[in-house]
Amino acid sequence: MKLLLIEDEPSVVSFIRRYLAEAGYDVSVALDGVSGLQMATENNFQLIILDVMLPGMNGIAVCKALRQQQLSTPILMLTALGSTENVVTGLDSGADDYLVKPFKQAELLARIRSLLRRNNDTAAAIPAVTQTNGNVLKVADLELDLNTKSASRYGQTIVLTATEYRLLEYMMRNPKRVLSRMEILENVWGVDFNMNTKVVDVYVNYLRKKVNRKDQPALIQTVVGMGYMLKEEE
Ligand code: CA
Repeated sequence: MKLLLIEDEPSVVSFIRRYLAEAGYDVSVALDGVSGLQMATENNFQLIILDVMLPGMNGIAVCKALRQQQLSTPILMLTALGSTENVVTGLDSGADDYLVKPFKQAELLARIRSLLRRNNDTAAAIPAVTQTNGNVLKVADLELDLNTKSASRYGQTIVLTATEYRLLEYMMRNPKRVLSRMEILENVWGVDFNMNTKVVDVYVNYLRKKVNRKDQPALIQTVVGMGYMLKEEE
């Protein structure tokens, strides 16, 4: 299992590297954003651990650049700044999860396992409800192809990040049902994901912007005080 660590602080690098090596991971290190971006693009890593504060190009910019290149590798962002605003900026740039420094070894490992697991078998873990022809989920005019992991509406492709894809898949497998934030968090981010449900609102909003178009009926509905629901507007 090959992981890439993009981090400039030597003490953090040696701590993470040693601990992950003991856990059986093969860790490559980049000490700045530019070389990290290059390594991530040229190699096939299973996961990227990305520090936000980096010399030259910061973690947010690296993350954005990777996602722009359609790289879907899970990204775990490391931040010393724990405010919601910074977390949102990190997630907005395309990171899948974040960890606030200083963190415990066990927590880092739990997040990595959770991300790798989510990336591999989310689809298999959720029972199919609305699966139609082959591997395509369909709700109203919205389609999600489970093989190519691409979404489309009225035949127009909707580009999704890895997390947006999992969220949409979960909602499309549970249409016309109010899904609470906690339920979404548990099913999309995993039960060991120790995080505020705020992340659910952030991601539902991203998805809503992509799926709900001005000239088309809204599909992602907010159920005030309860959660979210995927259904056609009445
Ligand atoms: Ca740093």
